[in-house]
Amino acid sequence: MQVVRDPKAFREACEAARVRGERVGLVPTMGALHEGHLSLVDRARSEGATFVALTIFVNPLQFAAHEDLGRYPRTLEADLEACRSRGVDLVLVPEDGSMYPPGFQTEVAVGGITKRWEGVHRPSHFAGVTTVVCKLFALTGPCVAVFGRKDYQQWRVIERMTLDLDLPIEVIGHPIVREEDGLALSSRNRYLSPEERTRALGIARGLHAANEAWRAGMRDADALAAIVRGPVEAAFDSIDYVAVASPRSLEPIDGSATEAVILVAAHVGRTRLIDNLELA
Ligand code: AMP
Repeated sequence: MQVVRDPKAFREACEAARVRGERVGLVPTMGALHEGHLSLVDRARSEGATFVALTIFVNPLQFAAHEDLGRYPRTLEADLEACRSRGVDLVLVPEDGSMYPPGFQTEVAVGGITKRWEGVHRPSHFAGVTTVVCKLFALTGPCVAVFGRKDYQQWRVIERMTLDLDLPIEVIGHPIVREEDGLALSSRNRYLSPEERTRALGIARGLHAANEAWRAGMRDADALAAIVRGPVEAAFDSIDYVAVASPRSLEPIDGSATEAVILVAAHVGRTRLIDNLELA
């Protein structure tokens, strides 16, 4: 496994792989890797990638001043070991300053789909994400890029950007990996005390209950949202949103919907968790 700090070296290694006839897979992450991230590596392989590149970059552009950039977990040695044991071929850990050169003043921003839900509560977040992902796509070149549906809106925003800008990237959204008790794996779970960890299960419980109601024929968005809110309100300190939305546009559903996704963001203690469930 090759580990590079220089984005240009990363670009050259991806290009060299393609010249050898390899299909390149890309897994962008912020590190503190867990099984959710590593499942994306496996998915890249099952999508035909013969050369898998993973990036570890805690992107300051996607954090607001009051958010957790400073305390975001950094576990580089363990991350590299996990990558090695999962058969990753190339890891980019960009040197400080190498992603945003002095004088950087370019932003890649997607429109309407970024304005709802996460976009309301984190207004500059998606522009930070799309700017860095666009740069990572440019560095990697043609590839299959795998994102987790854990960040459901992010995945849809990146799909939109890729389509709109004709980027030569195949974007895959991989299902959420959960703990046995239903908690979605997240780097931020390590902030949780044991007591908060137990309370955090309220989201998965609410989503599960809404899924049961959906299966029984409930299509009313407010009623579905109320089912989710019950256990979340009981266990969390505050809720940013519970959205019942159309899976592609992320607009609220109406009563004739045949599919939906429920998106949740809520705070337990100092930790903000997001989760979602696709209903079909
Ligand atoms: P992050 O390091 O949190 O930016 O996440 C990097 C990628 O891993 C994103 O595409 C996430 O959606 C994905 N990811 C994070 N947690 C999970 C999970 N539990 N299941 C599937 N994908 C995940």
